[in-house]
Amino acid sequence: MNMRTTLGQIDPDRCGCDAPDGTLMPVDEALARALALVTAIADTEQIALSKATGRVLASPVRAALPLPPFDNAAMDGYAIRLSNLTGRGPWTLPVTARMRAGDPPCPLPTAAACRILTGAALPQGAEAVVAQEDVARTNGTITLSHLPKVGQHIRRAGDDLAAGTEIVPAGRMIGAREAAAIASSGADTITVRARLKVAVLSTGSELVAPGAPLAPGQIWDANTALLRAALAQPWIERLDLGALPDDPGRLAAALVDACARADLVITTGGVSVGDEDHMARVFLQAGGAIHAMKIAMKPGKPLTIGQLGGSVWLGLPGNPVAAYVTWTVIGARLAEAMAGIRPVGPRKILVRLAAALRHKPGRCEFRPARILGYSAQGAQLVECLGAPGSHRVAQLARADGLALVPAEAEAMAAGDLIEFLPF
Ligand code: AMP
Ligand code: MG
Repeated sequence: MNMRTTLGQIDPDRCGCDAPDGTLMPVDEALARALALVTAIADTEQIALSKATGRVLASPVRAALPLPPFDNAAMDGYAIRLSNLTGRGPWTLPVTARMRAGDPPCPLPTAAACRILTGAALPQGAEAVVAQEDVARTNGTITLSHLPKVGQHIRRAGDDLAAGTEIVPAGRMIGAREAAAIASSGADTITVRARLKVAVLSTGSELVAPGAPLAPGQIWDANTALLRAALAQPWIERLDLGALPDDPGRLAAALVDACARADLVITTGGVSVGDEDHMARVFLQAGGAIHAMKIAMKPGKPLTIGQLGGSVWLGLPGNPVAAYVTWTVIGARLAEAMAGIRPVGPRKILVRLAAALRHKPGRCEFRPARILGYSAQGAQLVECLGAPGSHRVAQLARADGLALVPAEAEAMAAGDLIEFLPF
């Protein structure tokens, strides 16, 4: 399917962009279209596991040995052979050997117990480990009152993973759990994907960098800081392009330059329908193709997704809450897919609304919301914060996440289940 399109030639059946009745493109479709544009970065590099936190594994790591590598004790206690416990208990055995973690395995002496410490290799012939709390100890002997079960307190070789099995799949970002599993397999070098190059540009003639004085009519640029923080990921290499005024010539040059240098270009502002919203037009004039715009989401309707050369352009709306929501819901998913991260998707949980709300059907709405705690039934309760407004950046900072009001909902009652994207 050729999805290349221009603002003047959009097929309304395939795209809500320009439909005469003002049809909007569902969020899922916009995301699917964006994901269809990209494949994961092909370049890889070999790096030390100690430097790999937050990078994306390019090929799976397999266990060189079974995990655990040998049968070992799960408790501090005594390794015994059940055939030594004849007749009715209690049974007394001499303790004639001692195994610490790290000692090479030895045979279990006949008719005796072996003192064993957690993690020590199980002596050959031992059938159970009796916890030290479950025996009485006197002068080199132990006395047991209860017959142990075969295999008790023994961690068997391979009970976590068989040798050769995939221990961490390709596409996983290296966090604490992945690092521990890889280290347990003995690997100290892994293959990761190259960093995703992401260029960031804020647009708007009203913008001033924080720290500089404001003239009347100007505002401080929030979006550069927003995206700088959002993109501070080890798997991303960020190119900061600063802020530009609403000057079509300069914007066109900056977009072309950014697309030549980065895999993903993120701009904010200038994608709405005002006289000074030039971004989509200059992008098309520069030879770009637009694949999604006018999205059925609130905030975030002006989000525009295009492609120029080998780069994808994400035109986020200028209002900071809209920029944050569109980045979270669509932009971050796209960036993850480009970086080779799997699975792609925001974390969503189901919670209950603390208070009723009303909603105009048509666009799904992402409302900054706070977690209040738990109801008497143990359900997590959230409260949407104040009146929504895509400029209300302070309200966004007070929220714990975004509550997702479905596009078709007209009203929701207190206690209704609602999807929630925790920050
Ligand atoms: P636009 O998307 O360019 O129409 O901008 C929508 C609103 O967001 C306007 O009120 C802009 O002043 C504001 N805005 C645009 N860019 C930024 C930014 N970087 N920081 C803070 N507000 C912005
Ligand atoms: Mg603007």
